[in-house]
This record gives sequence, C-alpha cells and structure tokens, in this order.
Amino acid sequence: MEMARIGSTPAGGVSRLALSDEDRAARELLRSWWEAAGLRTTVDELGNMFGLRPGLDSDAEPVLVGSHLDSQPTGGRFDGALGVLAALEVVESLDAAGVATPHPIEVVNWTNEEGSRFPPAMACSGAFAGAFDVDYALELEDASGRTLAEELTRIGYRGARPVGGRGIRASLELHIEQGPILESASKTIGVVTGVQGARWYNVRIEGEATHAGPVPMSRRRDPVRGAARVLDRLYEAVRDYDDDAHLAVGEIGTHPASRNTVPAHVDFTVDLRHPEDDALTVLDASLRSLVTRVTDEMALVGDVRQIWHSPTVRFAPECIGAVRAASGALGYSQMDVFSGAGHDSVYLQRICPAGMIFVPCAGGVSHAESESITPEDAEAGANVLLHATVQLAGGEP
Ligand SMILES: [Zn+2]
Repeated sequence: MEMARIGSTPAGGVSRLALSDEDRAARELLRSWWEAAGLRTTVDELGNMFGLRPGLDSDAEPVLVGSHLDSQPTGGRFDGALGVLAALEVVESLDAAGVATPHPIEVVNWTNEEGSRFPPAMACSGAFAGAFDVDYALELEDASGRTLAEELTRIGYRGARPVGGRGIRASLELHIEQGPILESASKTIGVVTGVQGARWYNVRIEGEATHAGPVPMSRRRDPVRGAARVLDRLYEAVRDYDDDAHLAVGEIGTHPASRNTVPAHVDFTVDLRHPEDDALTVLDASLRSLVTRVTDEMALVGDVRQIWHSPTVRFAPECIGAVRAASGALGYSQMDVFSGAGHDSVYLQRICPAGMIFVPCAGGVSHAESESITPEDAEAGANVLLHATVQLAGGEP
C-alpha cells in the first residue's frame, strides 16, 4: 500500500509510467527497502535493478526473483508491484529464519515491462536475455520523442552494470493472474506452465472512395462491407477452431473518415493468440485466405501484414515442479494455468529455467484502477515464491 501511494490515482489505481518521476520515486523507495534488508543494489545500463543476497557458494549462479514497478497509464496497484515486493519479502523471511542457500538470490525490478510509454513491452528483460540489442532498447522513444536512454539519465538510473551476458541459475516471478480463471475455479495458486503465443497484424481493405448519395449501391466498391465480411468470418473461424483461440480487433479506421463518403480504405488491427504455435499458423492462414477470398468476391484489394510475433513459451519443468511442490506442501488449492498475457519471464526462459506463480485478482480485472487482490492470496503467493526459490537456490524448502 505504501508503494501504491506513489503515482496513486483518485480512482484507487496507480499511474507510474516507466522512467517518469513517479517511477523514480518508486525505485528510490524500493532501493531504500533493499538496502535496509542488507541487499547489495546494482543497476544495469537499461535501469534494471538487482539486489543481491549472497549464497554459500560465492561462484554459484543466482536465482532471479522479481517483476516490475512500472504501470499502465491508469493501472492497478498489484500488476508487477506484487512480484517485486514479494521477492523482498522472500529474502527478509530467509534472513529472519537464518536460512542460507547455496546459490545467491537476486531480487529484480525490470525496466519498462508494460511498454506503455516505450513500446514494445518487456524490451529491457528482452535485452537482458539477448533477444534485443541494448542499443535497440536505449533508442526506444515515447510519444513526445524522448528516448529511453535520455529518461534513464534524467532520473539517475542509467547504471554501469552491463546488461545480461551472465549465467542465471533460474528465474521466478509472482504475478496477479489478470484473468478470471483462478477465481472462477476457486483456486488460490496458479502454477503457470507457459505463456500463449501472439501474432499482431495490420490489415487494409481497399475499395474506391465515392459520394454517399448518387452512386448506385451495385456499382460501389465499398471497403467497409469487405472489412465487415472478413471480420465476421474471422470471428467464426476463431470460435470454431477451439476454446483456446483468441482474437481481438482493437483498432478500426476508415479513410477518409467522413460520414457522407464511401471510404477509400479500411484499416484494422488483428491480435491472434493461442497456446499452440501450430494453431497460430493455421489461424494465420485462415486470416490471409479470408481476406483474399472476400476481396476477390467484392472487387476489393486486401493487404495483410504481420508486424509482431511472440512464440508460445513453455516454462521449465524444474520451475513448474518447484512451484507445484511448494504450493502442495503449504496446502494451497492450485491448478495449472497458461498465461494469456506477456511477462518478463517470457524472455528469461530463453537463458535459464524460468517459472511463474499466479494469484487471483477480483473479477479477473487488471490494467485498470479497480484491480484488487486479497491479503490472503498475496500471502499465499509469497509463501509459494519463498519455498520454490529456496528449492531452486539449492536449499531445503
Ligand atoms: Zn505485469
């Protein structure tokens, strides 16, 4: 609740965009808590913050535990912050119990997870994992043209530590589910087995601009009719594929947008998601053939451009097993879940065994000021994180 005061909004959420003054204040508070807990804080060139709790074996690779403190423009109090603060709770609990682990534990706060200010999302954990060049991340711009590098310098978080390039024993992240499945099933712990793949497209249907009145309907080449037919059939194709297929059309625009003109073209975005990459390949083909068929039928021209692809990620059996065992030993109700949303752990799985723990959020609502969780679920998630971390760090859970 203290962290949620930084950037708090009147409707009970937070607005803590990456590298804003609010993000700096949140980082300063976190750093003060880390230092009070005896953690050695380092910051890398992308502002990713690490707090080290040494292990018994000083040469052993660390277990990374954390999440992110940045938020959506009108975000909630728990998306990201829960995982960062629970990681601190893990090391404080180990200290209080006098427990040492063979592997070091490094708590982490990833920069710009949301990608809301500097798209795309997760670029700094991605660079840590070698998925992007560091320069690519440094040159990302916000809507006003300020770069990630400039803003890191401005808030004093362009650190000296090189980004990534080191061995990691394993990575764990506690996060709110951001969906309704755990709550509907009355389960406390989601054992996250992976993150579904996503493909993003820009689609254009071209027709012919003309006056809304004089031209007979039969002679028009109206791209809105084409877009409507494509979308209706695409929704049917996704519905008929299986229950795991997801489609969202978040942006639609006509050009020129004038009420008494048949538009020259219609642009819309398509977000397709599925836990199986093969399914996305099939749905990709459906989208393309639908656009071709409908535009041929209607004397229109279609163009489908894929602009982003995030393959399906399956988390390491070792981490899934550690989470399942911890939850079971602590007596929490649990179920396996596949994440519908992206997380920093997606990239970490490329360089080390990675895993995630979900706890329910009220109504499945997230990326909203009304986001809410119970103290009991937060405690359960932190307990599972503690025991799974100890196991991966070579200790006795
Ligand atoms: Zn998040």
